[in-house]
Amino acid sequence: MTALYRTDHTPARALRSSIAAMLALLLSSNATAEQVLHHYTVAIDESLQVMTVEARFAAPVRSVTARSQRAADYLLDFENCDDDTKIRIRNRRMIVPAGGIQCMNYTIDLDAAASDQRQNASLRDDNVVVSPAVWLWRPEINASNNVQVEFKLPGDMAVAVPWKPVGHSGKLFRIQQSPESGYAPAAFGHFEMHEVTVPGAALRVSLLQGKSPMDNGELLRWVEAAATDVSLAYGMFPNPSPLVVVMPAGNRSRRGGDSAVPFGRVLRDGGEAVELFVDQDKPLSAFLDDWTATHEFSHLLLPFVDRKHRWISEGFAMYYQNVLLARAGAYDEQRAWQKLYEGYQRGRQSRPELSPNDAAQGGRREATMKIYWSGAALALMADVELRRLSNGEQTLDTVLQQFQACCLPSSHSWSGTEFFSRLDTLSGRDVFMPLYRRYADSVGFPDPAETFARLGVVVHDGQVRLARNAELLRIRAAITRVDTEVARWRQQLAANAR
Ligand SMILES: [Zn+2]
Repeated sequence: MTALYRTDHTPARALRSSIAAMLALLLSSNATAEQVLHHYTVAIDESLQVMTVEARFAAPVRSVTARSQRAADYLLDFENCDDDTKIRIRNRRMIVPAGGIQCMNYTIDLDAAASDQRQNASLRDDNVVVSPAVWLWRPEINASNNVQVEFKLPGDMAVAVPWKPVGHSGKLFRIQQSPESGYAPAAFGHFEMHEVTVPGAALRVSLLQGKSPMDNGELLRWVEAAATDVSLAYGMFPNPSPLVVVMPAGNRSRRGGDSAVPFGRVLRDGGEAVELFVDQDKPLSAFLDDWTATHEFSHLLLPFVDRKHRWISEGFAMYYQNVLLARAGAYDEQRAWQKLYEGYQRGRQSRPELSPNDAAQGGRREATMKIYWSGAALALMADVELRRLSNGEQTLDTVLQQFQACCLPSSHSWSGTEFFSRLDTLSGRDVFMPLYRRYADSVGFPDPAETFARLGVVVHDGQVRLARNAELLRIRAAITRVDTEVARWRQQLAANAR
């Protein structure tokens, strides 16, 4: 779909971003010149039982590992193809001959590996998800060492991986240096793949088939709607071609209560993938009213932020899902602020004796709401402060747009302070780090009450009322300003939904 988007660059900002683009071009061409490219060929049999892999290295490789602890369990054999000797594995690491290795081939018990990944229980037999973490034995990928993977698959078998497609065959990919935030999916079998285009991106959407039929057309419209929501942050989707895997939730449904999308997550490993687990029995209207996909796609506005500062990435996604659903017309202004208010209340009540950094340190029970909403409070405060200081010229959106231009998708994980410092540098203002210093290690919750009051978001008995007069009324209106074209399109989708 097409829509009109804001492109109000100031000349100074445009100049800065074109300098950044030139620098990025210089750096990337240097990297390509020195880069060693290893070639992998991966074949799978029609019945999805066995995978064979051959790796030819551009130069002798001294270290080959797989990410999963269990990877060695699925190896049927592993040979040095230059001399046909067997390769042994110790602690997820192959024992490499002195002088390194130039070629290896191995066989994976794909069926056994698939049985151990629980999402396969709800998939039809001719669809499997098996993470590369359990089957990809490889050297480290970095600026000078890169891997290209070609799939040789029978008939019309499809493959979906989070890596960057090379050419248009749908079978050749380049693994990019990236944070390893979890076990990304790789899917094989007979399922539909579609390109969903939104401003700035063509999402590679694969619709894995469950045991009961799914309405793929409706699911695609919902993915397009959620991706369009996120393009309303700054006029384009943050990643030009992420992998999106839609699959039946099966018994994960219980975890998400009665929602159409009980569970979703972003996984980064050689590329960015978004998994969306769906209850395919729900009507399109329930999908269009569900926030999960908008939340997950909003994560792509940020780089991978390390676990200690997880409250920043979760919080920004929480803030954006509500703001963007309002801009897309799915929530009215009142509902968006009500949801933000209720979220902040849950955050305030969650483990008040901990600071956001403490809560995110892992193993903190009942701290989930603190983790999710502390960052959302900072996102609101930063957004309002930027708009106030710049008279509406700068916003959280424009700073994240600059961040996208310089730094996304990112090849490394960021600490919260590195990320916030960069945002301050990009905006030329001290907004994010002062908020971090004030709240990140302070017990309690970053209280947005004062910000609410100035925006004219008044709360009585838990109900939000939007005042007609307030100091920062224009800022409140701008944060949730509706994109009328997108809203009309979403309304039509909902009206046509069964
Ligand atoms: Zn999240």
